[in-house]
Amino acid sequence: MSQPDKMKQGQFSNPETPGYVGFANLPNQVHRKSVKKGFEFTLMVVGESGLGKSTLINSLFLTDLYPERVIPGAAEKIERTVQIEASTVEIEERGVKLQIIVGYIDDQFERYLHDESGLNRRHIVDNRVHCCFYFISPLGHGLKPLDVQFMKAIHNKVNVVPVIAKADTLTLRERERLKRRILDEIDEHGIKIYHLPDAESDEDEDFKEQTRILKASIPFAVVGSNQQIEAKGKKVRGRLYPWGVVEVENPEHNDFLKLRIMLITHMQDLQEVTQDLHYENFRSERLKRGGRLSSHGYILPLSPAYGPEPEEMDKDMILQEKEAELRRMQEMIAKMQAQMQKQGDGEGEGQHV
Ligand code: GDP
Repeated sequence: MSQPDKMKQGQFSNPETPGYVGFANLPNQVHRKSVKKGFEFTLMVVGESGLGKSTLINSLFLTDLYPERVIPGAAEKIERTVQIEASTVEIEERGVKLQIIVGYIDDQFERYLHDESGLNRRHIVDNRVHCCFYFISPLGHGLKPLDVQFMKAIHNKVNVVPVIAKADTLTLRERERLKRRILDEIDEHGIKIYHLPDAESDEDEDFKEQTRILKASIPFAVVGSNQQIEAKGKKVRGRLYPWGVVEVENPEHNDFLKLRIMLITHMQDLQEVTQDLHYENFRSERLKRGGRLSSHGYILPLSPAYGPEPEEMDKDMILQEKEAELRRMQEMIAKMQAQMQKQGDGEGEGQHV
């Protein structure tokens, strides 16, 4: 386990401008890799009600404190290419929500599979869930049966990153103990969590060290807050106690910054694992379960007892795809026109999160 005092000063320093997630702050090589092409990224945050999920999302993406933030010039280009969707989901006993979450993840795969097999493969919107922060209560002494059930239900579909909520309610020793316990239980129950890849040998030493620290910090013990508090003459996001301020973005107080750095620097890897492992699993399972690939890659359901011949269905499918593509193009043109109109009016600011 990493000790806060082992942390290099400034290694996880936050960007000076509060108004963006921090892409421009990445080591160059990672930055280049992550933003060259532009992509969509979906983060899901799961856990019991009241554990601080919404607060953490706000803290991560600065969605509450700076509603009218101005994005600095260097980051502007990046902002337009990287879209992050974040959503929080509550879990509850009786498994009702579990089915909904699993169903949602599968639906996104299904949609992607459908689009990927369609005629317009270049403009696929990727709504697959690339990462899931799983919130664990700081009050239990490890994982609850519900946590085990949830993580096992989703671990083959999405990259699970375990997070200990409200770390400020625990002493440093309690945190370390809980972290060890959770890792042991994850191991015992055969739960597969997202493994950060080792830094490649050609990466610079700082990046390698950062990766080591990130790995050693799992499960990240985080603190979130929607408030700005005065600490050492500066306004910081934090939680005020009679004995002092817990600063969200202070790596000596909690793992929030590490979690954020992990997300940003490993965004591309999270996507690749989603594509190469989780989506591939889904795809091959889907093929096994029934259906066959049509000539243009689309999975057809098993032939019904009565119904058109497969070749006929193929033609119908192609026609339907063509119509759908035309519709999409029309919608796109309408959107572009609206966008151009908006820019003409001088309101063309890009949305950040
Ligand atoms: P959600 O239901 O999981 O989305 O939880 P919320 O974000 O709505 O937070 C529930 C309550 O916990 C609120 O009163 C928050 O102020 C508080 N809270 C959120 N994050 C933290 C934290 O890191 N530490 C502490 N002590 N309280 C927190």
